[in-house]
Amino acid sequence: MGGAELTSQAQPEAPWDIVFLDRDGTINVRVDGYVTSPLDLNLLPGAAKAVARLNRSGCRVVLVTNQRGLATGSLSWSQWARVMSRLDELLAAEGAHIDSVELCPHQRGECTCRKPQPGLFMGALEAAPWARPHRCAMVGDMTSDVVPARALGMRAILLGEDAPSLHEAVEDLLAPPAPSGE
Ligand SMILES: [Mg+2]
Ligand SMILES: [Zn+2]
Repeated sequence: MGGAELTSQAQPEAPWDIVFLDRDGTINVRVDGYVTSPLDLNLLPGAAKAVARLNRSGCRVVLVTNQRGLATGSLSWSQWARVMSRLDELLAAEGAHIDSVELCPHQRGECTCRKPQPGLFMGALEAAPWARPHRCAMVGDMTSDVVPARALGMRAILLGEDAPSLHEAVEDLLAPPAPSGE
């Protein structure tokens, strides 16, 4: 799912080709179970501004999300679509957008894309042959978010461990490189 928009390359001056973001617990407040109603989609403080900073830096922003509820029936496809349009609206209100969405709608053990498997990342990279994994980064709130990204050679930031929130994670990603040599 998604990917078509990635035919548009990152800007040449962008510090990253693609920054991958988890959704629940990274951009929006995690709920018990699945976010099934647009009313339950609440952005975490500073998250939209952080996404807007990534957008302005010229990289592409790709959402990578497991939504097993679509397989179990706890989340319908129309609920998923409504929740995602709410996310788009809330981000747009702060000048932010997601370029592409990579979704795993599958049950555990039935696919090669459910994180921590690498399928969602590989799908995005296939759609973006201009992107190089070592110029890609991932921010997520679970070990299963960072494991596949690191396995593919990407930089990965685990919220709660490497940075307190998406805001600080993006500060780190966009910080100018430290001068080398002393
Ligand atoms: Mg999460
Ligand atoms: Zn899957």
